[in-house]
Amino acid sequence: MSTFQSRRDQFDLPEGITYLDGNSLGPLPKAAVERARQTMADEWGPMLITGWNKAKWMEMPGSLGDRIGKLIGAPAGSTMVGDTLSIKVYQAVASAVEMRPGRKIVLSDNGNFPSDLYIADGLLKSLGQGHELKVVDPEAVVDHITEDVAAVMLTHVDYRTGRVHDMKAITDKAHAVGALMIWDLAHSAGALPVDLTGCNADIAVGCTYKYLNGGPGAPGFIYVRPELIDQVRPALSGWLGHQAPFAFDLDYRPGDGISRMRVGTPPVIQMAVLDAALDAFDGVEMNEIRARSIELSEQFISEVEAGCKDVELASPRDPNLRGSQVSFRFHEGYAGMQALIARGIIGDFRAPDIMRFGFCPLYNTSDEVSHAASALCEIIATGEWDKPEFKARKAVT
Ligand SMILES: *Cc1c(COP(=O)(O)O)cnc(C)c1O
Repeated sequence: MSTFQSRRDQFDLPEGITYLDGNSLGPLPKAAVERARQTMADEWGPMLITGWNKAKWMEMPGSLGDRIGKLIGAPAGSTMVGDTLSIKVYQAVASAVEMRPGRKIVLSDNGNFPSDLYIADGLLKSLGQGHELKVVDPEAVVDHITEDVAAVMLTHVDYRTGRVHDMKAITDKAHAVGALMIWDLAHSAGALPVDLTGCNADIAVGCTYKYLNGGPGAPGFIYVRPELIDQVRPALSGWLGHQAPFAFDLDYRPGDGISRMRVGTPPVIQMAVLDAALDAFDGVEMNEIRARSIELSEQFISEVEAGCKDVELASPRDPNLRGSQVSFRFHEGYAGMQALIARGIIGDFRAPDIMRFGFCPLYNTSDEVSHAASALCEIIATGEWDKPEFKARKAVT
């Protein structure tokens, strides 16, 4: 596919490495290096504090939010970049719960990423009003959406298996009982088409260092449905979410629209990197990315299953129910992944036994898929994984 062949050249991928972990940390876009240099040498250096106006640093959270909005079906002015995803989850849950007084349940599932659950639980405890975080099986979520639920908070694509929730159906169910719907798009934004407007989601959050390639520590984002934003009282009422930050009023007044979800000073250099990274999505439709991602992941599944009987597909077999990753269970998954990494094939491991492979059409090729599939089969067939150096756990898996 020529569309994608030329895009691969936009990334600085190390020689000899097959990178199948863009679902955890996207690779370096070449343009990001120059953009970071420019931001420092041409803006920060000479402009000093005047860069906030002259180089429009202060507008970047909103302009980047709009660029991300185009990938997730959000209209301009409804998405704001900043802070970390965990912080954005806090903001989302705090605002949602406050908008549904009298309801005490926040509903989530046990396929959610732990940070989302920890943050929601911690927040509800500190509210001290008897709220409860209810965590059920992903398949049981719909049955638990009842009239005592203030908000349903789910991650669209399961970080371990890649299983996709039906955003429209679940959002409709939440609205039918008067609950608010919060979607975490950490493994969706830039990976598959999302239509926040079409499914009428209330709040969505996500990060930019996975499929959006914004770099380690790149900021998160938050979307609030435009019809709802005026009712949102920001729980993290920082000065940059104020109506007039430079009035330095002693009282907080929320800013207009989504700007009220800003908190404090944004990370300018990291945002410049993200802006350059998002160029890789210019001129390509999310539908094209999705179609190619399905081709690559189907190829991987069929080659691995043809060559290796000792792994079990942990992801849904139907590609429409799967995000842009494929996971296999292997009883020594950690050692197996370390053996693959030693061969220059980088995926990752998620406890207890999941070997996870992300496919990003912007830079992954069909040859890489074959290379990874045959290496995985060989490592398992020969027992190459069974070495002490592959079993010693590192801090980040
Ligand atoms: C990656 C991920 C996070 C990480 O949050 P940070 O605050 O960026 O560390 C949180 N939630 C989900 C669903 C994720 O996939």
